[in-house]
Amino acid sequence: MTMAVSLPILVLDLAEQRYSCHACGNCCRDFTVQLRDEDIERLDRQGWKAELGFEPWVEFRGSRFLRQRSDGACIFLQDDGLCRIHARHGLQEKPVACRSFPLSVMPTADGPQQGLNFACGSVQLNKGAAMATHLADLRRIAEDAPETVGQARAVALLPGREASPLELRALAGVLDQWMGREGASIATRIDGLAWIAQALRHAKLASVKGDRFLELITTIVATLEDELEADPVGAATERQERMLRQAIFMRTEDPRLDRMKADGFLRTAWRQWRRQRAFLKGSGTVPDLRGFAHGVRFQEAEFIPNPLHDAAEGHDEPIDDLVTRWVRARLRGARTWGAGYYGFSAVEGLSALCVDVASAAYLARVHAAGRDPAANRVMFADMAAAVARIDRTAGRAPWLATAGERLRLSFLSLDDGLRRTCALHPCGVEWR
Ligand code: SF4
Repeated sequence: MTMAVSLPILVLDLAEQRYSCHACGNCCRDFTVQLRDEDIERLDRQGWKAELGFEPWVEFRGSRFLRQRSDGACIFLQDDGLCRIHARHGLQEKPVACRSFPLSVMPTADGPQQGLNFACGSVQLNKGAAMATHLADLRRIAEDAPETVGQARAVALLPGREASPLELRALAGVLDQWMGREGASIATRIDGLAWIAQALRHAKLASVKGDRFLELITTIVATLEDELEADPVGAATERQERMLRQAIFMRTEDPRLDRMKADGFLRTAWRQWRRQRAFLKGSGTVPDLRGFAHGVRFQEAEFIPNPLHDAAEGHDEPIDDLVTRWVRARLRGARTWGAGYYGFSAVEGLSALCVDVASAAYLARVHAAGRDPAANRVMFADMAAAVARIDRTAGRAPWLATAGERLRLSFLSLDDGLRRTCALHPCGVEWR
């Protein structure tokens, strides 16, 4: 049952971002789709069980998900790349998550806010219509999922220090301005983001409130470039590198529910443990990642220069543009803290965003090494594949909402860890 939504929805304020669906079908190959009760009712009404001989969904730990084929794609994905439910019954009959993607709506203190997921190829390539043209789709999402326009829960600045809507708005605005700054390289802007996350984590913010907080963050950003120049980022420690690889493992977990059910808890846990161990060790072969070549060695990937650094050298404007739009869309689109990111505080969410960028930069090198081992460069397609892999889980993977992840973020905020992992191996590592 849907309800009429009269609340205005805040459009993603990112003039340079565009999107229209080009029906590539990638989201149908790459996502585990959780179903709502209304989705199940619709699928039942459409009579798929009789046609397929089994339910089109699987139940896992109390939730229901669209069944996947053995290659991980949705069972309704046709050879022509289109959706069988859509073709037969129309868009409105598809599960809510399918007809929403890559758009999202999140409750914030300022009202429901439009967000955008960068796992969509059209979003990455910036192809399609302006954000403001999707209002009808947003309204439909809000009607299908009323919680998206519900009362926003309070968001903390840091655990124990509540943030006012004004402070959150100002923080997002200032960070976004920093990310959109012209003349500063992408490496510098990401370094600045990490610097701010670290500084806010350790600032005594309990009594710095309202206008004083606004003054503080405005001053930080006004002097940030000088600050970064005076305090150049150093090399990551072995432990920080290990933490980053562990964060990558967490961000690229790819649950195949049918397989997990068939294998049972023990085999699944064993497989996950082995993957995690391989990432922690960081030697030998990178565990398989969907959409990436098999058999890439960690050393081959680390031989390739960090794409953020490379883009900063003016080698790759499209990479700079992609990362800039991605980060700004996360900040502007309520996908960095609060309801759009596991209810995290603003500073924890900002730290997680920095780790996402560092993870994507690392994964892009893995992708580049698998695409052409002889080429010593990350191309746009490598970065796009990596950003898709990371943004796909952001805000929708319950295992990233745990105390373990929060501890990791806290650890990486020490000793320049966020900055150092974002700038990891700028020119690549020559392994002997
Ligand atoms: S990935 Fe994007 S462009 Fe492709 S089908 Fe999904 S929404 Fe459409």
